[in-house]
Amino acid sequence: MGNSLAISGGPRLIDREWPRWPQPGDRALKSLEDVLTSGRWTISCAYQGRQSYERQFAEAFAEYCNSPLCVPVATGTAALAIALEACGVGASDEVVVPGLSWVASSSAVLGINAVPVLVDVDPVTYCLDPAAVEAAITDRTRAISVVHAYSAVADLDALLDIAQRYGLPLIEDCAHAHGARYNNWPVGAFGTAGAFSMQGSKLLTCGEGGAVITDDPEIASRAEHLRADGRVLRRDAVDVGEMELMETGRLMGSNACLSEFHAAVLLDQLDLLDQQNSRRGRSAERLSARLAELGLTPQGTSAGTTERAYYRYAVRLPDEVLAIAPADRIARALGAELGFPVMRTHQPLNDNPLNRPSTRRRFAIDREYMARVDPARFDLPVARRIHDSVVSFGHEVLLAPLDAIDDIAEAFAKVLSHVEELAG
Ligand SMILES: *Cc1c(COP(=O)(O)O)cnc(C)c1O
Repeated sequence: MGNSLAISGGPRLIDREWPRWPQPGDRALKSLEDVLTSGRWTISCAYQGRQSYERQFAEAFAEYCNSPLCVPVATGTAALAIALEACGVGASDEVVVPGLSWVASSSAVLGINAVPVLVDVDPVTYCLDPAAVEAAITDRTRAISVVHAYSAVADLDALLDIAQRYGLPLIEDCAHAHGARYNNWPVGAFGTAGAFSMQGSKLLTCGEGGAVITDDPEIASRAEHLRADGRVLRRDAVDVGEMELMETGRLMGSNACLSEFHAAVLLDQLDLLDQQNSRRGRSAERLSARLAELGLTPQGTSAGTTERAYYRYAVRLPDEVLAIAPADRIARALGAELGFPVMRTHQPLNDNPLNRPSTRRRFAIDREYMARVDPARFDLPVARRIHDSVVSFGHEVLLAPLDAIDDIAEAFAKVLSHVEELAG
């Protein structure tokens, strides 16, 4: 018998153009030209007589998140680090982070000289497991950083309850979840602070960017100082040619300002987000119904979720199939049939080549600290199992027409019925 799967030389099942990401909106070119000629390319240059794009975006995004305050920053990693530090976390403090996440969950904590404590995730939502969080809390714990992962919203009721009982700030990492809702309220606005990434792959993007949202004016003020070298934007009238940033000396910072170009692009993209999210949601629901019929288990979400945002579509393969071929080979076979990349989840952070503090001199403070930040000391069996059994692909695919979504289900059916070709 010859080979049927595209990856082993057979015919490719689907031949179509898939949507690409990012997708610029209509206003971006005009806004970018406006920034170019405005004489002010960032808020750390002199005021030119009109509101900065940075301020416009901060107001628009705060409103979008039903949150009173937003501090735009240069990256999502900076947003996380600044949110943690603004909440009072610092040297040697322990921060609970999910063991299944992008490396930024760990690097942002290390970046403020704190200690990431890798905690296992829930097998259904792939987000922090509240019971595991509670078990990991020690007298050195100073914060919990939760990720709403891939397309789920974490169990915020349980996590907020733990945070409250132990008096810990909860930071919501919403890098995957722009526009997701829990109990009909936007994510990011439940925790002490919400951190967003607007890096090029995210649902709301300007290439590189981020934001912190909070309802606490003191935290917002500290975040402003931290991202603009100890300066905050003046709220009173400013003359043309004067600095809008005021030097207070109250809290030393460094530079993580969002440029005017980035803010202009974000304002344009924000207009498109809800419509794109609902298209992605419709596609995902249809695909999940088809894949469930094939015996697969789409990623679940917490009971309180009222609106999902799909950053990556993730689905668990049946055990019978995994007994024949490993998930990474199945992912590559799916990609070969479909013509877009299908991958596994992030690699668990206790065994991830990108999460190696020992490669950096700056963490060699002393032996004890080096031992505390060694990721290998954590055990993450659920994260490991998810990584070994789940395949995923990017959200742009879900912007394809619904007949293309049916093609994806066909490709899964084909690969599963020929999985023996992937054995060995
Ligand atoms: C992308 C991402 C970040 C960091 O964002 P950057 O803008 O790339 O610094 C943080 N957390 C998670 C879960 C992410 O996926």
